[in-house]
Amino acid sequence: MNVADSEVVYAIMEEAGYARTSDYKQADVIFLNTCSVREKAEQTVRNKLSNFSHLKRTRPHLLIGVLGCMASRAKERLLEEEKMVDIVAGPDSYRDLPHLVDNARKNLCAVNVQLSLEETYDDIIPVRVSGNGISAFVSVMRGCDNMCTYCVVPYTRGRERSRDPQTIINEIQILADEGYKEITLLGQNIDSYLWYGGGPKKHFDKASEEQKKNAVRFSQLLTMVAERFPMLRIRFCTSNPHDMTDDVLDAIASHDNICRYLHLPFQSGSNRILKHMHRGYTREEYMALIDRIHAKLPDCGITMDVIAGYPTETEEDHQDTLSLMCYVKYDFGYMFKYSERPGTYAAGHYPDDVPDDVKQRRLDEIISLQSEHSAQRNRSYIGRTCRILAEGVSKKNKEELFGRNPQGIVAVFPAEGHTIGEFIDVEIIDATQGTLIGIIKK
Ligand code: SAH
Ligand code: SF4
Repeated sequence: MNVADSEVVYAIMEEAGYARTSDYKQADVIFLNTCSVREKAEQTVRNKLSNFSHLKRTRPHLLIGVLGCMASRAKERLLEEEKMVDIVAGPDSYRDLPHLVDNARKNLCAVNVQLSLEETYDDIIPVRVSGNGISAFVSVMRGCDNMCTYCVVPYTRGRERSRDPQTIINEIQILADEGYKEITLLGQNIDSYLWYGGGPKKHFDKASEEQKKNAVRFSQLLTMVAERFPMLRIRFCTSNPHDMTDDVLDAIASHDNICRYLHLPFQSGSNRILKHMHRGYTREEYMALIDRIHAKLPDCGITMDVIAGYPTETEEDHQDTLSLMCYVKYDFGYMFKYSERPGTYAAGHYPDDVPDDVKQRRLDEIISLQSEHSAQRNRSYIGRTCRILAEGVSKKNKEELFGRNPQGIVAVFPAEGHTIGEFIDVEIIDATQGTLIGIIKK
């Protein structure tokens, strides 16, 4: 999401007459787009900022801006504590950046962390700087209304609002014209996408009959995109199990160009902890959703996020997490230790009471189980043929290409005259825990 946002920032700065440099030592302005989801992410930003301090000493006119979630969270404190920060802009203030830069040059206030109920940057065509020219992110909504107790996102990124579908189509059309082959639709809670032309989701009840009739839900957006761009491979994330509805599964099932792949964070396998977290589903409901996914989308890749050591988590709760993992056997997981985030409901109500060594041991158990499952999943592809979108040349061997199958797993195979950007049928002959090894299907 930050990659996608940075591309919006580039577009806004280019429009204002700035040019990009790939060498930060040449820059007049450096923006750090930050994440606050865990303490570790914020620490990384602080380290980066202190690395920049020597640059500032040699180049006093250099301006440094902190963008994104950490800007929302730390606001003016960033200017006071991190002496080298000149500009602070939250996720909804990027249109104001050229003005903030001017202000900083004049030593005027250069902070804007106002969150918006409307901003979706829908008219801005991001400048694609981070990708490979094959695969791009397209933001379809911003913010989150879910208020999971541990999570800082609703406070740093604001209320949920969806982007006008026509502007999404326009952006994808440009990507298709430029030769992109794959797009990933992005939202913190994408299944909850709802566009009705009336602003934030929370005001939908007050929408007119006309607006309600013409509203576009996620399954409709997905269908619209898939049918308009049959030559593109389409992915999306992140799905909150609470908001994932069967019409989305049906939309995937009826379109071959939508990848059979779902990122479906579960966070915990314990009903008690899930309730504590305000996740809005039980373990049984989650398992039933997994069963429906398998029934409607055989061969669907499923990945997850999970948190170890949420406040009050017992050994029994942890065992429930491991057993849920065994039920699903995820392809891959993003696995975290609970990190208390100031301002969240959990930080205010439940002490961070699982000792760090216990959290770490539980996380290690989760990681090791996931490694087994990933290895098993990957081995199950041996002997099968996967359609791979070639994304790049292998670092280890210039004669080999790498790319992903529809389930999102990376495969490496001899190029044999094929090039980046092609869809290629690859027969899988071997697998490691992280990668499929294949040959081109004759
Ligand atoms: N909107 C997505 C998640 C966005 S945050 C969803 O609900 O699924 C990405 C992941 O970071 C979360 O799924 C969660 O596993 C993790 N995370 C969020 N807050 C955290 C915290 N305080 N400590 C540890 N992990 C956290
Ligand atoms: Fe955070 Fe929950 Fe929203 Fe995901 S759904 S961004 S975890 S509040």
